[in-house]
Amino acid sequence: MRLYNTLSKRKEEFVPLEEGKVKMYVCGPTVYNYIHIGNARPMIVFDTVRRYFEYKGYEVNFVSNFTDVDDKIIKKSIEEGISAQEVAQRYIAECIKDMNAMNIKPATKNPLATEEICGMVEMIQSLIDKGYAYEKNGTVYFRTRTFKEYGKLSHKNLDDLQSGGRALLVSGVDEKEDSLDFVLWKPKKEGEPAWKSPWSEGRPGWHIECSVMSKKYLGEQIDIHAGGEDLIFPHHENEIAQSEAANGKEFAKYWLHNGFLNIDNRKMSKSLGNFFTVREIGEKYDLQVLRFFMLSAHYRSPLNFSADLMQAAGTGLDRILTAAKNLKFLRSNANKENMTQEEQQIFVKTNEYVEAFEHAMDDDFNTADAISAIFDLVKYANTTANGESSKEYLEGVYALLVKLTDVLGIIIDTEEEILDADIEVLIEERQAARKARDFKRADEIRDELLQKGIVLEDTREGVKWKRA
Ligand code: AMP
Ligand code: ZN
Repeated sequence: MRLYNTLSKRKEEFVPLEEGKVKMYVCGPTVYNYIHIGNARPMIVFDTVRRYFEYKGYEVNFVSNFTDVDDKIIKKSIEEGISAQEVAQRYIAECIKDMNAMNIKPATKNPLATEEICGMVEMIQSLIDKGYAYEKNGTVYFRTRTFKEYGKLSHKNLDDLQSGGRALLVSGVDEKEDSLDFVLWKPKKEGEPAWKSPWSEGRPGWHIECSVMSKKYLGEQIDIHAGGEDLIFPHHENEIAQSEAANGKEFAKYWLHNGFLNIDNRKMSKSLGNFFTVREIGEKYDLQVLRFFMLSAHYRSPLNFSADLMQAAGTGLDRILTAAKNLKFLRSNANKENMTQEEQQIFVKTNEYVEAFEHAMDDDFNTADAISAIFDLVKYANTTANGESSKEYLEGVYALLVKLTDVLGIIIDTEEEILDADIEVLIEERQAARKARDFKRADEIRDELLQKGIVLEDTREGVKWKRA
């Protein structure tokens, strides 16, 4: 399996730190509003990455935080006259609803920044003790130049970065030792949420959160750290500096970043009026379509969102869902149980599509090509499955389709299946209603079952049923 590492700017073979296991951290959203469809992209993409590792047999420890203390949250709390904590709690709950609706698997752990302050104070103190950080008037800064590898992720040169900041230092506006230094801890302003620390009553900087939560839930070294490409600098660059300075070890082996989502070829922004929340899109489209649309492009490419492209994604997805439904229908009517020899040979050929799917996913999670392999399997299923096919063949192809679409988080078995036992119970109730000459209720039950695709047949031997 090869994945593109932002650190080396190349595709690298994936070698886990511990055999059979993947430790993965994905930077989560700042919770001050409903999430927008741009935020949905890393969620969908890295959930798919996780699912593929699981498909390959890895055990994935997947940690993704919620940033629940931040200037934007405080601003919203002032606007609404409620506490910052209430704002964060409300939007965490809404975000989880959206993630469920997009079939994002629950993380192993979703840590909250405000519950991890203690660990942040500890890490900041150890950075001060080692000479990597210093305090000025209650603010603690990271001494960037002491971390020799600063810039290795974003491939930036320190001197280029510094050119803009020097004037502020010379004029005395900046209290930092160096304009490159960044904040680890800041004192509170009036009315802001704050925690006690050795330096001031205040709150942590944003970057230290992820270094601490990743260490606590995954350990000092992790396999994969991921997020949107806007996080490469400064967020992830600073996380590396903090973690590697504090722990004396390489922080993450592979750094994965998704490209940005634009709307009608423009940057999504409230002022341009082209800003959509996942909730709004969910009112217009099935969110499976949004998921399918996001995965129809490579995760590192920029992706353009438009009504036309969503419609095309919907049509593509329907092709898969229709084929699955057809296989299920044929299966419930099939007369033959086991595959014939000829069918066995036909079935072996489906391996080619599975191989093509895996080949695409092994190549830096190329979901676009993986979807093409699924379409090829669908085409093959449509031409080989018919009224003469055996149950075993139809079931086999259907199961393959489920297995591959599940990696993409697409549910093809959307119809709720009524269990055999429940059917029997309803039939008994219908018999009892007939005995009591309550024909209205008896007919109701018959119709209810018919709606679920169950056909009843009254015979001399009793009531028989079959799935339509
Ligand atoms: P934020 O709440 O702004 O920190 O964003 C949470 C995640 O969403 C980060 O990984 C961002 O990089 C990502 N993100 C934000 N906007 C977009 C966008 N338009 N396209 C893709 N990813 C985005
Ligand atoms: Zn982060």
